[in-house]
Amino acid sequence: MSVLAIIENWEGEFKKTSFEVLHYGKRISNEIGQELIALTFGANNPERLEGYGASRIINVSNLKFETTTNNNLAKISAELITENEASHIVISNTITGKTIAPLLTSNLNCGLISNAIEHPKTHTPLTVKCKGFSSKAHITYESENQQNIISIVPNSIGLIEKNDEKSEVLNINQKSNLTNEKMKILHREKSNEKISLADAEIVISAGRGLKDPENWGMIEELAELLNAGTACSKPVSDMGWRPHSEHVGQTGLAINPDLYIAIGISGAIQHLAGVNSSKNIVVINTDPEAPFFKAANYGIVGDAFVVVPKLIAALKNFKN
Ligand SMILES: Cc1cc2nc3c(=O)[nH]c(=O)nc-3n(C[C@H](O)[C@H](O)[C@H](O)COP(=O)(O)OP(=O)(O)OC[C@H]3O[C@@H](n4cnc5c(N)ncnc54)[C@H](O)[C@@H]3O)c2cc1C
Repeated sequence: MSVLAIIENWEGEFKKTSFEVLHYGKRISNEIGQELIALTFGANNPERLEGYGASRIINVSNLKFETTTNNNLAKISAELITENEASHIVISNTITGKTIAPLLTSNLNCGLISNAIEHPKTHTPLTVKCKGFSSKAHITYESENQQNIISIVPNSIGLIEKNDEKSEVLNINQKSNLTNEKMKILHREKSNEKISLADAEIVISAGRGLKDPENWGMIEELAELLNAGTACSKPVSDMGWRPHSEHVGQTGLAINPDLYIAIGISGAIQHLAGVNSSKNIVVINTDPEAPFFKAANYGIVGDAFVVVPKLIAALKNFKN
């Protein structure tokens, strides 16, 4: 028996969520006394996963996350899960993870607990606290299945320090045939975000209060100074002021950074659904009655065009 962590990478490079999945898997492996196996595809340097608790790292080197369809990623993963008799499979609830997890559940006929935000409370039966209902509620699931997939909300568990432990690194080629797909990936276009929103610890987000796409220079400058990702409300991306990859909320990305700064965003319930798990929320809005203030840890009632330049100047001063 084993615990198997599916570790995503992008163009062969690991992301923060990759290490978070290992942390989650390691804790389960300690608690149930089984080895932890890391499974990845097309990693440039699988040895980078060493020191985070996996005794074995399996890298399917002839397939890549970006160019393999989700059906095939799930098929190959299911074969390796079965070969390694994994009782617990951990995956990040990223866009890819969200698609692979249910496919895997169907392939393996096992349980699925999605959107986990805490380590399991018990193992027999398996109980895990998760996010639900567009982040408006917490749900604790109990599974009596012998085999379960747990998908974890990115940035909800945190990381562990690397240690000096070595792992057995196996670079393998996928052996079985890929499924004969009626669907293929035709085109990939990289978003030009500097910091991926899913991984960003700080996110600077702006809404219709900024009035014009030309005014985003100060948002980008603030983000650059704080090493933050940039996000926006839905109408802003609908109007084409910002790319859709920045849209957060119920119909966009759900994020939970350590710090979310909302500038000129009213705080509609659909927007909050994607950001209200952020650990700290700062709101800058001219309207003291804006609903976002109710969800904020800190609020500034003020004009973004006055407050943000002052914030930038203060940060530059502080950095100097
Ligand atoms: C089914 C459905 C799904 C949706 N999904 C999403 C979603 O995923 N994400 C999302 O964001 N929305 C979503 N929406 C839309 C949502 O209901 C709101 O309409 C939207 O979030 C409002 O965007 P906003 O706050 O940028 O704009 P507005 O509501 O226009 O708010 C602008 C804010 O800026 C403030 N402001 C104005 N000038 C300044 C200034 N100079 N300085 C500082 N503040 C200023 C105003 O006081 C106001 O609070 C959804 C709606 C529906 C019906």
